[in-house]
Amino acid sequence: MTKAPGPADASDPKVYGWCPGALRPMMSGDGLVLRIRAPQGRLSQDQARAIASLSERFGNGLIDLSARANLQLRGITADSYPALIAALQDLGLVDHDSAAEARRNVILTPLWQPEDISHRIATQLEQALRDAQDLSLPGKFGFVVDAGESPRLRDCAGDIRIEASGAELLLLADGADYGKVVSAKTAAKAALDLARWFLQQGGAPEGRGRMQPLIARRGPPTSHITPRRTSTPSPMIGHCAIGQLVGLEFGQITAQALATLAEQGALRLTPWRMLLVEGARDLTARHLPGLILDARDPRLRVSACTGAPGCLQALSATRDLARDLARFVPEGQLLHVSGCAKGCAHPGPAPLVLTATAPDTFALIHHGKAGDQPLRVSLRADALRAAPQILTEGS
Ligand code: SF4
Repeated sequence: MTKAPGPADASDPKVYGWCPGALRPMMSGDGLVLRIRAPQGRLSQDQARAIASLSERFGNGLIDLSARANLQLRGITADSYPALIAALQDLGLVDHDSAAEARRNVILTPLWQPEDISHRIATQLEQALRDAQDLSLPGKFGFVVDAGESPRLRDCAGDIRIEASGAELLLLADGADYGKVVSAKTAAKAALDLARWFLQQGGAPEGRGRMQPLIARRGPPTSHITPRRTSTPSPMIGHCAIGQLVGLEFGQITAQALATLAEQGALRLTPWRMLLVEGARDLTARHLPGLILDARDPRLRVSACTGAPGCLQALSATRDLARDLARFVPEGQLLHVSGCAKGCAHPGPAPLVLTATAPDTFALIHHGKAGDQPLRVSLRADALRAAPQILTEGS
């Protein structure tokens, strides 16, 4: 097992360049964090029930849903880790080979239908990545398969994308506006070829790097000449063709709530802080306490990272404040409350940002990222609760 990182310098967020994978867990303030990268982003009812039970038995009963549609079990102890991994391998949720597990970093659109083009390509791509033993990609390097009629995953991070573009299917390097036309048969191989091109072009010196900076430096391969078309926004909480989308406050669910949800149907993991319950039509908050079933719920207007004490780098708790301020965030806006300047919960700019600088003390940023120049500093959490209009003054 990789040695877990120690406590960080409070003022300087560390960039580890890798994520807490199942076979390479990361130490956090509440124990090890272990990521489950479910094949095709789907959990059968039995798998979801089993994860809930394992989280309670080996962890602290809290499960995160990441922006890459992975589950993260929190609060794992080093002693319980081997038994937990063995159980997840038995469930078919973790590869036996750690390198294959690391390469298999694919987000499939949650709106796939069995054997449709997205599902077939993602299945082929996952297997091709397992088999590509010569391919050594950076830990965060990932693929997105979004080949349905209108792409929904444009806002979802991915280095190589296979995406519908009008009547065509495009292979795209992240950061490029032009791609290469591929077919359902050739897409998976072409994606691996593009990953090899990324390495050959020096995209990952010392094993770290992402596609976007490489494309900014030298542009996409010369065969990428077909323009990318527009996409459709991500779906809202509620019904869709596959079932019902339910929201998770701050992208987190308790083991108990996951077990309850598993009784309703198989689950698809999404990168939108939502779970898609296959075949569900009439889930209500009465059945699912703590979950978000109304697209107008103010909690959807805030995002907040784990914060203190769950994250070793956090300078303050975040989620209680975000919850208290949610109803004061104007509709159509987003408040991002970050435990440090790293901004994990919302790496891009947000209209309103509170970045912790000390316990219960925040800097306010308008239209920026967590590490950007603040408009105001030294705002106490209690003062923000007492006068939430501070958030929007001057915007
Ligand atoms: S942004 Fe939040 S979760 Fe990320 S390192 Fe900072 S405190 Fe931790």
